Amino acid sequence: MANLILILGDQLSHQLSALEGADKDNDRVVMAEVHDEASYTNHHKKKLIYIFSVMRHFARELEQQGWHVHYQRYHPDNPEQSLEAVVSKLAAEHRPEKLITTECGEWRLHSQISQWHEHLGIPVEIRPDTRFVCRKQEFADWAKGRKQLRMEFFYREMRKKTGLLMTPEGKPEGGQWNFDSDNRKKWSGKPPAPAPFRVEPDSVTREVIQLVEEYFPDHFGTSEDFHFSVTADQAQAALEHFIDFALPCFGDYQDALSDHEDWLFHSILSPYLNTGLLDPTDVCQAVAQAWYSGRAPLNAAEGFIRQIIGWREFVRGIYWLLMPGYAKENRLNNQRSLPWFYWTGETKMRCMHKAIDATARNAYAHHIQRLMVTGNFALLAGIHPEDICDWYLAVYIDAFDWVELPNTLGMVMHADGGYLGSKPYAASGKYIQRMSDHCQNCHYRVQDATGEKACPFNALYWHFIDRHRDDFANNPRMAMMYRNWDKQPDERRRAILSRGEWLLANLEQL
Ligand SMILES: Cc1cc2nc3c(=O)[nH]c(=O)nc-3n(C[C@H](O)[C@H](O)[C@H](O)COP(=O)(O)OP(=O)(O)OC[C@H]3O[C@@H](n4cnc5c(N)ncnc54)[C@H](O)[C@@H]3O)c2cc1C
Ligand code: SF4
Repeated sequence: MANLILILGDQLSHQLSALEGADKDNDRVVMAEVHDEASYTNHHKKKLIYIFSVMRHFARELEQQGWHVHYQRYHPDNPEQSLEAVVSKLAAEHRPEKLITTECGEWRLHSQISQWHEHLGIPVEIRPDTRFVCRKQEFADWAKGRKQLRMEFFYREMRKKTGLLMTPEGKPEGGQWNFDSDNRKKWSGKPPAPAPFRVEPDSVTREVIQLVEEYFPDHFGTSEDFHFSVTADQAQAALEHFIDFALPCFGDYQDALSDHEDWLFHSILSPYLNTGLLDPTDVCQAVAQAWYSGRAPLNAAEGFIRQIIGWREFVRGIYWLLMPGYAKENRLNNQRSLPWFYWTGETKMRCMHKAIDATARNAYAHHIQRLMVTGNFALLAGIHPEDICDWYLAVYIDAFDWVELPNTLGMVMHADGGYLGSKPYAASGKYIQRMSDHCQNCHYRVQDATGEKACPFNALYWHFIDRHRDDFANNPRMAMMYRNWDKQPDERRRAILSRGEWLLANLEQL
């Protein structure tokens, strides 16, 4: 055998750099479902099913194309429980010239693979991951010497680099870089939200569902009604479904929350982008094309493209720029444990119940649920960043460290001092009421800040503002919040703070 080519579960692209220039006749591809990767966190059952199923389908495609694939299926008693053990065994058996792989998306595994050459006795070639618009070094060069790293400025660079939604004169289409101010409508049921794209499980997926039920019965969530795409062709069909049915309203209702609809007008493409079934540039080009051909408005196309070549690339850049120290950041010094209802959904707070319940059923919640409901609550309640980061990493089908960590630790918890937002995304119940119809079905009263039935988000919000005065009072974007707080009568402030104290001491009862 000439070379061993290791492909990981989130590297399922036929254009993967590790496969470039490879020799189908002599090289051997290795893929493995190993215990260490499947169990380092309480992965949602649907996430495990998805990863194992897409891996098996991808391996089958490679074999059909003539590759030799060594594929290890999951079994708890496999003697090789880690990727290194699988690779070591094959290296000893076949004596390849070297191991080739594409850099992985997680610091933990990346640092392990970087040391493998010492134990394997063969060189390990780690190639760059070319499936992103911005290379790691390019981001580091952009960041160098800047006082502040702001997504918006990085995004403009990516627009220029890709030419997406740019005029021939090099100006942004529509005369503006960003149409976010058009994208804040509440959704009241009309126009109806489209059903998400569905693929019924085939025999490969059905086998994996059984495997996960047998060996991971206590993991979070349900395996029922699994309907995600598991091949690149199916993911492409999901993209077309999104463009036809949801993209036209994506922008308008991007920030909306609903008591009745789980998916609204979101694309549900993150699992496919993050595992390599879809290429981000191809996806953005298809969306830009939908605008050029009059099938979607500009605020929708621009809003969507910004999420991918802006936010997605930006969080990846931040991750690799600041790891490994980044994962330990806790600038607001939060110490509280994650309330148990994050795992059960059993809380009287309707918005939280709805977001967690959808998460348990679907391994999915849309961005505003993640940011402004479960994330906002964790921020206001002062949950330890490691606890809440572990939760997000476990429960979502699209969760991989490079994208989950900056979103949770940075965007939601503001634990990094503000790389992902110039002010914390903290909000009272009023925000949730404005963007949703949850409050009318809630046990709590959104208009109240004190009293037994007062919405917990309200007093927790003001308690957060008050206890973090030293952290935020000099931030001009927070000045209005402090002015509003300071002008409240002393008695009212005392009552709100006292309700806040009670809530913090009794989180589990909410
Ligand atoms: C606390 C928290 C944790 C998150 N964890 C993850 C995660 O583990 N994996 C993940 O892919 N996204 C994560 N996100 C970002 C975002 O919520 C999801 O990408 C999105 O909800 C996926 O659903 P969708 O494909 O329907 O997205 P859409 O709303 O349709 O957006 C389109 C695409 O834009 C990209 N995108 C949008 N926002 C972001 C963002 N903030 N960061 C990176 N990409 C973005 C995604 O690829 C997404 O598929 C997180 C956000 C928060 C607030
Ligand atoms: S009243 Fe408060 S807890 Fe209830 S749904 Fe509204 S914001 Fe959520």
